[in-house]
Amino acid sequence: MKLNVAVLPGDGVGPEVTREAVRVLRAVSDFCGYDFRFEESPIGGGASVEFGSPYPDQTRERCLASSAVLLGAVGGPQFDSLTDKLRPEAGLLALRHSLGCFANLRPAIAFEPISDCSPLRPERILGANLIIVRELLGGLYFGEPRAIDAASKSAWNTMRYSEQEIERVARVAFKLAEKRRKKLVSVDKANVLETSRLWRRVVTRVAAEFPDVALEHALVDSFAMNVITYPTRYDVVLTENLFGDILSDETAVIAGSLGMLPSASIGGKVDLYEPIHGSAPDIAGKGIANPIGAIGSAAMLLRHTAKLHAEADSIEVAIEAVLKSGMRTADLLPAAERSKAVSTEVMGKRIAECTVEALNSRMAYFAV
Ligand code: NAD
Repeated sequence: MKLNVAVLPGDGVGPEVTREAVRVLRAVSDFCGYDFRFEESPIGGGASVEFGSPYPDQTRERCLASSAVLLGAVGGPQFDSLTDKLRPEAGLLALRHSLGCFANLRPAIAFEPISDCSPLRPERILGANLIIVRELLGGLYFGEPRAIDAASKSAWNTMRYSEQEIERVARVAFKLAEKRRKKLVSVDKANVLETSRLWRRVVTRVAAEFPDVALEHALVDSFAMNVITYPTRYDVVLTENLFGDILSDETAVIAGSLGMLPSASIGGKVDLYEPIHGSAPDIAGKGIANPIGAIGSAAMLLRHTAKLHAEADSIEVAIEAVLKSGMRTADLLPAAERSKAVSTEVMGKRIAECTVEALNSRMAYFAV
């Protein structure tokens, strides 16, 4: 099995967490005798400063020639004074656009051993296992025209969706729902927005192709309250770009920390994997970021791109085992207990070891 992974560490904690994700992938590759290769390229604010672009041409070429892209995060206050075109986030949008990945899958699971990490009551979250399917290439983030106009002292963005954009992401979500609990909630703001009314019409039409999946429509404002109050009610959540961005950070509370959530962006030329969090400038450079979102993204890479299901499962088993053992990064501990926290590196190394142990016991099981 050969895999060329373009690694884009980015800014802030990005390099710290991707290092651990690559460590775990290397452990899988070494143990299984695979040929995984990793090549780093610049992206984000650092790339703007050094190469004059937040998504340099060489990075784009390398990403498009790879089997998959593993991204850390971009951004930081030190880049706030850059022009709009040089902003790190412009690099992120250009990356997603160039790869063409329009469906962003963001699972949020309340792992039993860390239900105590969430500020939500354990009985509310235990058993929660939902996945947000966020449309990634449309809506307000890409709509034109967009501008800040100094003369009129105003600014505008455009929310635009075509039927085709909605249809293709809806199909991804329904197919996923068919393999899961056959429940899909589509989240919009159809009482106010025309784009949402189109969204609702198209999703309802696509639903007819998936008669086994129960479809529910929800308005984003009350859904934001319901998903955190009754997270176990939901399975697949389909929504547009901006709503998905916000709701997925909210569902991180179910998992205990923003550092826990992985993501996969699929449907284009090359798949993109990244933790859902940003560059966390408040903790960058301290070696304390939680690498589990990035490592979970590596597991998604093995499952979706490489079709290495057993290996992906082994990484997830390892994450759960390490958390069960009580090992925690600082974000998963109350302030008074943070002296017990382990570093990003210690957590990454332990998950890599446990992944190999999980692969080993799997081999032993099948050898019996
Ligand atoms: P953030 O996700 O970076 O951080 C929010 C909070 O979560 C912070 O307190 C941070 O310390 C904590 N956190 C995030 N990741 C963590 C981890 N792995 N371990 C432990 N704690 C973690 O969001 P923000 O502060 O709103 O944004 C900071 C920068 O990141 C901004 O420039 C923003 O544009 C950028 N951003 C980038 C991406 C991306 O690259 N995909 C996504 C969101 C935000």
